[in-house]
Amino acid sequence: MIQTKGYATHDSNAKFSEWEFERRDVGPNDILIDIEYAGICHSDIHTAKNEWEGVGMGTMYPLVPGHEIVGRVTQVGDGVTKFKVGDIAGIGCFVDSCRECKPCVEGFQQFCQKMAAYTYSGTYMDRVTPTYGGYSDKYVIDEGYALKVSDSVGDLAGVAPLMCAGITTYSPLRRFGAGPGKKVGIVGLGGLGHMGVKLAAAMGAEVTVFSTSPSKEADASALGAHHFVVTKDPANLEPLAGTFDIILDTVSADHDINPYIAMLGLRGTLVVVGVPPSPNSVHSFGLIFGNKSIAGSLIGGIPETQEMLDFCAEHGVKSEVEIIKPDYIETAYDRTVKSDVRYRFVIDMQNA
Ligand code: NAP
Ligand code: ZN
Ligand code: ZN
Repeated sequence: MIQTKGYATHDSNAKFSEWEFERRDVGPNDILIDIEYAGICHSDIHTAKNEWEGVGMGTMYPLVPGHEIVGRVTQVGDGVTKFKVGDIAGIGCFVDSCRECKPCVEGFQQFCQKMAAYTYSGTYMDRVTPTYGGYSDKYVIDEGYALKVSDSVGDLAGVAPLMCAGITTYSPLRRFGAGPGKKVGIVGLGGLGHMGVKLAAAMGAEVTVFSTSPSKEADASALGAHHFVVTKDPANLEPLAGTFDIILDTVSADHDINPYIAMLGLRGTLVVVGVPPSPNSVHSFGLIFGNKSIAGSLIGGIPETQEMLDFCAEHGVKSEVEIIKPDYIETAYDRTVKSDVRYRFVIDMQNA
């Protein structure tokens, strides 16, 4: 077994401390990654605080969060063909799946019918061994579930958040046709939101940010947004009724989605990716006038995540990060919850 140093919370108080645990030995198809950076996704915070217990997604403690992982390969199994020692590898939200069901075979492993092995707060496919995430110094993973990161990307801190925030916004933007001539709205300028802006702009769409934080306007423009709308005043939204093709809602806290449905044009789609604790309520009239849709989207499978990484390398897209040490995790959580993140906290695991 491989001795691993991680940072864990043991209950929903989300107080983190150093915690040693073991990862499996490197098998024939496995790679061992020395983790360099792990991003802090708001899902880590929801999970650490057990905020999804009410919807049947209770947390398994001790919890080592982290599913935006990037590092160097330090060992490969005999059967490994995709990686060699020294390569850069990424890990996202899942680390294994059944490999046989229709979603797995089609490359949508996140929807494995036997349930994928999520990177943390889950179990491996033996359904016994718990998974621990990237707030740790090493990960052992089957090469088929690791992502390749080009050596040309340079500094890796801004690459880690692509593994979740990047793919979670890329996938629905592609699915609903973001591109030239399309008006895209991004609701919430946090970790997911800022990636949504960069990616939609790189795809050629006209991008509007909907934010509760007036102080983020200059940043939105620097990230590639064409318009910035402060949502606190409903009067700002009224002139935009019926004008958007796609609106991506990345908000982490309870809020009303009906104003965004009203801003969709004919056949427009509101894509919900944020997962606030409580359900939303929508009246049918809001949808039937205009043949509008509400869609959901969950991260992406391995092939699409690789496609996203290649797109980002080609277009020079990375996350804007604030690099922290593990002793700052709790403060980073507090600041993220207060929308005071610009735009992703990333833990430096090498200088922990
Ligand atoms: P984040 O960095 O905290 O960003 C969320 C943003 O939402 C904030 O920066 C803020 O932007 C806005 N916001 C916060 N509270 C609000 C409120 N009360 N009303 C309106 N807007 C508010 O979080 P994240 O890491 O991007 O994650 C966002 C959500 O997506 C979380 O719920 C997370 O669990 C979920 N998620 C889903 C998937 C998926 O596959 N579907 C993947 C990853 C994460 P402004 O300051 O601009 O208003
Ligand atoms: Zn995430
Ligand atoms: Zn499967």
